[in-house]
Amino acid sequence: MPLQPLLPAATLAVNFAELKAPLHPQEAHVEASRCLYCFDAPCITACPTGIDIPAFIKKIAHDNTVGAARTILTANILGASCARVCPTSVLCEGACVLEARDEQPIQIGRLQRYATDYVQARGLTVLSAPAIKTGRKVAVIGAGPAGLGCAAALAQLGHHATIFEKQPQPGGLNTYGIAYYKLKPEVSLAEVELVKSLGVELRCGVTVGRDISLADLERDYSALFLGLGLGEAHRLRIPGEDLPEVRDALDFIEQLRTEPMANIPAGRAVAVIGCGNTAIDAATQALRLGADSATIIYRRSEDDMSAYEFEYELAKADGVEFLFHTAPVEVLATDGHVCGLRLCHTVTNADGKADLVPHSEFTQAFDLVLKAVGQEKQVALLKQLFPTLAVTTRGAIQRDPLTGQTNLPHIFTGGDCANGGREVVNAVGEGKKAAHAINQFLTGTTVTPPIQPSRLGAPSGATGSGLLHPIRAHELAAALIKS
Ligand code: SF4
Repeated sequence: MPLQPLLPAATLAVNFAELKAPLHPQEAHVEASRCLYCFDAPCITACPTGIDIPAFIKKIAHDNTVGAARTILTANILGASCARVCPTSVLCEGACVLEARDEQPIQIGRLQRYATDYVQARGLTVLSAPAIKTGRKVAVIGAGPAGLGCAAALAQLGHHATIFEKQPQPGGLNTYGIAYYKLKPEVSLAEVELVKSLGVELRCGVTVGRDISLADLERDYSALFLGLGLGEAHRLRIPGEDLPEVRDALDFIEQLRTEPMANIPAGRAVAVIGCGNTAIDAATQALRLGADSATIIYRRSEDDMSAYEFEYELAKADGVEFLFHTAPVEVLATDGHVCGLRLCHTVTNADGKADLVPHSEFTQAFDLVLKAVGQEKQVALLKQLFPTLAVTTRGAIQRDPLTGQTNLPHIFTGGDCANGGREVVNAVGEGKKAAHAINQFLTGTTVTPPIQPSRLGAPSGATGSGLLHPIRAHELAAALIKS
């Protein structure tokens, strides 16, 4: 039977409501006041974009929410998305010193959301690009987190950045590929508006190599940044894979973000193949869409899965079932529609690979199969566009890890196409780092990072020990909190 929508819009609105509620102003103040405003704060080091966390938290505690948002967005232009989707328990909050004191870490993600929501909701302008421009132009390929991070930083350095994006909408994963209950597309698109407000030009629906040639880009722009992301989803390579109810989990997630949910055909018994964070997003959303069951099927063990522990716990709490050491060997069909999977137990061999166990096959009924077994690298596209660009044996673009510069000096890269697929915040950080390297490439200068109040060992007013005199420190801190 073809699949049908299962639940009315009103029920879906409840099911897909944001998982983490925003902080009330009073809660934000209480939480911000718990922070110790550590010197050399480990939470800053743990953040791939280096947000000055104690500084923005202190600003919230002092009722300077706009200043807090400015501190966040200066370091991470996608601070609103990252506040929602970052695995904070393994990044900033995981590093918070309060953990070592057996206290709850500061809820940095929720405070970050509080500040960035405040300015987004009021349409406040907190960032600006310099009035004097360098006259240098940079082409950014891809409007995902890496491309947006790079373009925003380039604009703030006075360069003209143009982003070329093949999708109709910008934002990449943040707009298309994350569970709706974690991040609504509107938040991602509002961040893109912030990037555009800095003077970044955005050209969506343009495929480089088809709508605009590389030769044109190299003629018109002084440097290129590649933020291409990853390619097509891997195939299962089993019989029945091309049946209509076998879908890529990312396409399923995208459909939930781009179409009215009440019109989306839903499975009643959903199988999700793979056990990364995308698999969890797909399974938990299949249940929210009305499925009676969602089962994650993984050929390895619970300890081997790439999903974060907190994602696993969320899925279990939602009622997702798990079949470990199990692999699909055939998609079964009746009258051309999926009716189940033929599965086989697996065992891990001496090389760490999961082998099928002979004579252990069994079948289980499913009416929708979602594939979440990773994405291809864009090696073919890269070779076609840039035949001399160096690519690693794993298909990622080879680059200097500190600058993102490739073997072609005018081409820089960052994000999933270079790191193989990491977090949104890693992509933003790599884009930003590459922008500073591009700036150096174009102008031969470096940019000194702004003073950070958690590192008050500044030369002006410093004592012989390298630390500020207490009076000078208070003056500086007061000025920074107000900014
Ligand atoms: Fe505040 Fe924790 Fe960061 Fe220290 S480590 S500044 S307590 S959030």
